[in-house]
Amino acid sequence: MSMTEPRLQFAVLTLFPEAFDAVTRWGVTGRAFESGLCALHVQNPRDEATDRHGSVDDRPYGGGPGMVMQAPILSAALGKARLAIGADAKVLALSPQGVKLDAKLAQSLALESKLILVAGRYEGFDQRFIEREVDLEVSVGDFVVSGGELPAMLLMDAVARWVPGVLGHECSAAEDSFSDGLLDCPQYTRPEVFQGDRVPDVLLSGDHGAIADWRRAHSIKATLDRRPDLLGWEEVAEPDRKLLEKWDLLPGDRGRHS
Ligand code: SAM
Repeated sequence: MSMTEPRLQFAVLTLFPEAFDAVTRWGVTGRAFESGLCALHVQNPRDEATDRHGSVDDRPYGGGPGMVMQAPILSAALGKARLAIGADAKVLALSPQGVKLDAKLAQSLALESKLILVAGRYEGFDQRFIEREVDLEVSVGDFVVSGGELPAMLLMDAVARWVPGVLGHECSAAEDSFSDGLLDCPQYTRPEVFQGDRVPDVLLSGDHGAIADWRRAHSIKATLDRRPDLLGWEEVAEPDRKLLEKWDLLPGDRGRHS
């Protein structure tokens, strides 16, 4: 464990602390936490329960199904998390009603030094807790999962990748899909021939300029085809149109063979 301050200190409010082993113990993020570049403090709201059942939730006012996490319990747990990592930490609640997590948000959160994530369960949080204590609600997509732990871990992983030093220099978050507004290009590794399919010749050529051009052309093509919401033909600059033409990747209605 490193003795220096972590670049990014997380705290999580969760009823399931062990779930976070998935992000702190394995792979790229595991190394980030083991090396001390990132750190995690886990705070269980259950510890703030005052009744003998350890309750953290109660029935919703106005009736209806499900239970709601109680504001005083969440506030007390948040107070402890602030004591542990710092009162100036930004507080994010995971919620399907939040702003959608994307590469831009992940990159901007990586500039913070302290983040407290609040993972909900049941029907979610008492609104007064959100209004008084939460800086930003974050959603991982237009669907509902059973708890905020998986969304919180997704966020931690997506953010940690942008913390300098977390990815080795052989790979960079800046070359992943979305970082430049484009999807990634196709990737190949050995063998050179798989079931009769050859790796594109250019990738074996050693010509780094041509390889970079081929990769950019394929990124643009993939984004035009699959994610027209990210890139429309009108937004493709002239040099990139030339690249697409060079690699015979012009969209069907604009290609030389159409
Ligand atoms: N009743 C809530 C609603 O419809 O908005 C859903 C509650 S959900 C069953 C329980 C918890 O899971 C939420 O409080 C939140 O922390 C988390 N959660 C569920 N879906 C999520 C999503 N798409 N993004 C982020 N968090 C989510």
